[in-house]
Amino acid sequence: MASISLRNVVKQYGSGAKANPVIHGVNAEIADGEFVVIVGPSGCGKSTLLRMVAGLEEISGGEIAIGDRVVNEIEPAERDIAMVFQNYALYPHMSVFENMAYGLKIRKLPPEQIRARVDKAAGILELSHLLQRRPRELSGGQRQRVAMGRAIVRDPQVFLFDEPLSNLDAKLRVQTRLEIQKLHRELGVTSLFVTHDQVEAMTLAQRIVVMNGGRMEQFGTPEEVYGRP
Ligand code: ADP
Ligand code: ADP
Repeated sequence: MASISLRNVVKQYGSGAKANPVIHGVNAEIADGEFVVIVGPSGCGKSTLLRMVAGLEEISGGEIAIGDRVVNEIEPAERDIAMVFQNYALYPHMSVFENMAYGLKIRKLPPEQIRARVDKAAGILELSHLLQRRPRELSGGQRQRVAMGRAIVRDPQVFLFDEPLSNLDAKLRVQTRLEIQKLHRELGVTSLFVTHDQVEAMTLAQRIVVMNGGRMEQFGTPEEVYGRP
């Protein structure tokens, strides 16, 4: 687990006359183990910010640190970050167990450790009875839990969620939200969750970052941001 520091973070796409500034100096300190939701309208820069934290997008100015390490200085292979996307592809020819174990196998973890980590994650995500199935033999919700399991087994310092609920129907959205809350309760991993949905922000967040036009407009608890119900 680790804190996340955003220090005057700036991003522009392109350069010179074609420069398109999209993040205008964002500052935030996210505590170790905290669940923070970044909320704001489409195009306000949420995904860009998240991708910069993941090290998937270059920073144009300022600094992002995870724990005491600056993101741009961490080798990709050493990044203890797991990202859950809107659409995730499972390997269709592999079982649930193999899908979850794959990232650990290529990191050459010993088989007994792989087994232990997959079993633990499967327990939390209620997948223990499905480990030998193929993805096509699972429901949409189960597939999504496998995708989360794949992120968990890596034992990351930080979880990044990029609108993971927005393609789901209402029922599955509520169910998955509860699973994400359970995950955070049980593992306590520092989490950054991006959404355009205020209800998701209010129900999931310990603190909310409100973004607008590439700027951070507010950063506070749901009560501070939206007032008491
Ligand atoms: P959000 O996630 O809040 O919808 P994004 O971070 O995706 O917003 O986008 C922020 C702004 O950056 C938008 O104006 C978008 O058009 C622009 N943008 C995003 N990615 C790129 C890119 N690869 N090249 C140029 N502009 C981009
Ligand atoms: P893996 O995703 O199992 O780490 P990859 O070869 O796909 O393996 O990725 C190599 C590196 O790229 C990762 O260690 C990580 O730093 C970065 N990366 C890839 N996918 C993601 C992701 N979904 N979220 C964050 N970082 C990622």
